[in-house]
Formats: sequence, structure tokens, C-alpha cells
Amino acid sequence: MSLSCFDFADQKPQLTLEEAQQALLETATQITPAIKRSLQEAQGLFLAENIQAPIQVPQNTNSAMDGYALKGSELTQLKSWHLAGESLAGRGFNQTLQAGECIYITTGAPLPEGADTVVMMEQARREDGQVFFELGDKPPKIGSNVRQAGEDIQEGQLLLHPGQCLGSTELGLLASLGFSEVEVHQPLRVAIFSTGDEVTAPGLPLPAAGIYDANRFSVQGMLQGLGCQVTDLGILPDDLNAITSALRKASRDHQLILTSGGVSVGDADFVKQALADLGETRFWRLAIRPGRPFAFGHLGQNQQGSTCLFAGLPGNPVAAMVTFMLLVQPLIKKLQGGYQNLTATWTAQTEEPLKSRLGRSDFHRGIYQVNPEGQLEVHTTGAQGSGILTSMHQANCLIRIPDHQTEIPAGDPISIYPFHLWLAE
Ligand code: AMP
Ligand code: MG
Repeated sequence: MSLSCFDFADQKPQLTLEEAQQALLETATQITPAIKRSLQEAQGLFLAENIQAPIQVPQNTNSAMDGYALKGSELTQLKSWHLAGESLAGRGFNQTLQAGECIYITTGAPLPEGADTVVMMEQARREDGQVFFELGDKPPKIGSNVRQAGEDIQEGQLLLHPGQCLGSTELGLLASLGFSEVEVHQPLRVAIFSTGDEVTAPGLPLPAAGIYDANRFSVQGMLQGLGCQVTDLGILPDDLNAITSALRKASRDHQLILTSGGVSVGDADFVKQALADLGETRFWRLAIRPGRPFAFGHLGQNQQGSTCLFAGLPGNPVAAMVTFMLLVQPLIKKLQGGYQNLTATWTAQTEEPLKSRLGRSDFHRGIYQVNPEGQLEVHTTGAQGSGILTSMHQANCLIRIPDHQTEIPAGDPISIYPFHLWLAE
């Protein structure tokens, strides 16, 4: 890892979001190792192997309906069929159908030799071992209501690739192929702290000058959404010794430590200082709002021989979430063998004029929706202070006012970052 030391001189140009994202991703050289996990414990983790289908799906040509299986070409020739038996799901019918025969068949049951078509039960009538169909003027085509063997997946087909996030669909897909376990990247072990003398754990009485700790909970939720193994190490006071010793201890058995607070300009810079004392610091003034102060670096080697990375999020609850989402999340995904599409943005029409400063990207909390004309449009949630956490709750996206624009008139196109593409929770 090559991190420049003490890169926090105020006169240095501020980093754009893209520069900061790249700088963070470049440090992600130690991807967590591959481990076997049962499907039950693999949700949200990233695949570490190629998945090739060991069987074809469906295994057998089978019925898509409850009904009667027969030879389709006979439908235009015969009036009734002899009921030769039945094929129930999980059993089948082991003989070959002869001319003029049909069998009763349930959904998913294998089609017997000699049959290629299923007529729905609702169109059939049974009388003394004979079956009659009422088909109107449109008899089913040959092959109707039949699922062909291998129509979904061919044996040997390459289905999933390393880096694939395992969601509900992929877990179901793997199970449908008979996999009970898969190789995934080990979850990252992440420790979290809040900092600040005023920051109070929920559940305790709120001191006169106190504020309840929101960040540990929003950050923990986002980490768990990424499948990380989280250790909550509580709240640290604004005290250099306490912060230094807590970070040193936590760095021994974690791969990443996240703190919030204590990195503002003009703040007692304890988090930055502790980081500089223990490992290597980069401190960035980011050209984004919210989230201007952001500390990053590493705290040396942990007991497992990998480097313990560190990110100091801003204290303001919205800024902590936004910097996590835009910067820390892509880093974590890469460390866990996956990736965040950094250009996963949509274009929407702004319903209101927007303002920002030149050379800075503002991320307003926004609500996008499709208007009656089918156009994607977006408006802000209202007041945009970086402590107003209700704005994140109301929003379904971030609206980006880019670095090079100061004013965007209503009706103009603008980039939005939809939460469902960016916010793991
Ligand atoms: P700081 O970066 O420490 O100066 O904090 C900036 C602002 O965020 C201050 O108003 C803090 O009180 C507030 N803050 C810091 N940490 C938290 C936290 N964990 N939960 C809620 N607010 C916080
Ligand atoms: Mg503070």
C-alpha cells in the first residue's frame, strides 16, 4: 500500500469524488480469502468461483399444468382417449403411451414416452375410463403446456461469475442446481466507533448538551447490508490517549475500522492525530457536500498479517451516511471480492432550480418519481443541513449538482444516485 503521509495541508486542492473513490479503491489490494459457506449463510456475500450447471434444468420434459398428456397430433384426429394411468410429480409413468392413450398428469410431473402435449384439466371430461376434451375451435398446439428438458439451463452452462453478489435469486438458482454450499469471499471484519464528548448512547438519559449517537447505528446497518462482520466498540471521548489506545487495540483483529466525528476542520483533530501516530494518514478535504472532511489511512498490520485500513467519517449523520455510501462502500465491496458500479446513476428532470458552488459537487437528498408523461423527475426533500437525518429517511436518491455547475434551472436533466443501487441496508 502506498499512502502519502500527512496529505492534509489546507492549500492542497480538494479531491473530487471520483479522485477520492479511485484513491480508496487503489488501497484495496488484500481481497478477503475464499471460504466455503452453506447457502443459508451466503446471502449478500460475493462469489469466489465460477458456477457451471452440473445438471440440465428442468431435468425432465414435464407438464406445466394439471391435465392430460397425449400425442398432440391425435387432437385433430380422435374424439376420445383411453386413460392409461397417471404421472404424478415425483413419480412419473414408466410405460410408453400407445396410439389413442392419454394419462392424467400433474404440474411438474415427467411426460411419458409417446406424449408431447398436455391438455388442461379444465378442458377435459372423464367417463368410464375414457377422456373427452372440449377444446372449442382452437385445439392446443403440439407441445402446449409442456416444459422441455434443459429449456432453462443446459448442462455445463456457465451461469455465475466471481464477484457476483448472492441475493435471493442467486441463492434460489444455486439451490435449483443442487448446490448446498458455495465458495464466497470471507466477510470483512469491521470495527466501528463513534467519537465525541457530547455523543450519548441511546437508552441513556440525554445530558443538557448531549446528542444521541445516530452514526453507530446507521453505519452498522449499512455494514451488515454488505455482509460484513461488525464489532460495535461504542463511543470514544474527545481524548487523544483514549482514541489512540482504542484504535490500536481494535486494529489487532479487524481489517477495517470506521469512526465518525472528530475530523472536522477546527475540531480537536484527535482521530487524525491518533491515525498518524499509529499508522499512516491521508486526510482529504473532499470537494463534496455533505462530507467535506474525510480521513483515511491504515493502522499497521493486524494479527492475521493483513493491513488494518481506517476511514474517519464526518460526524454529521447525513455526511457520515453519504461518505459511507459513495466512498467506503465501493472500497468494502472490492475488499470482499465484489464491485460497485461507480457510474450507477440515472438522469432525471429537476422539478426545482438547484444551486451549488463552482468546484464542488453537492449531494442533495432527493425523491424521484415517474410523472404522468412517463418522465423521471426529482425534487429535494427540503432543508439540506448535514445533520438533518430525516432527509435521508424521506429520500430515495441523492441528487448531484456537479462540480462545474453553479445553477441548474428547473426542468434541466440532472444525475441522481438511487439508493437501491448505492445504499446497502
Ligand atoms: P464532529 O465532526 O465531531 O465535529 O461532529 C460534527 C457534528 O456531528 C457535531 O454536531 C456532532 O455533535 C455531530 N455528531 C458527531 N458524532 C455523532 C453521532 N455519532 N451521532 C449523531 N451526531 C453526531
Ligand atoms: Mg466531535
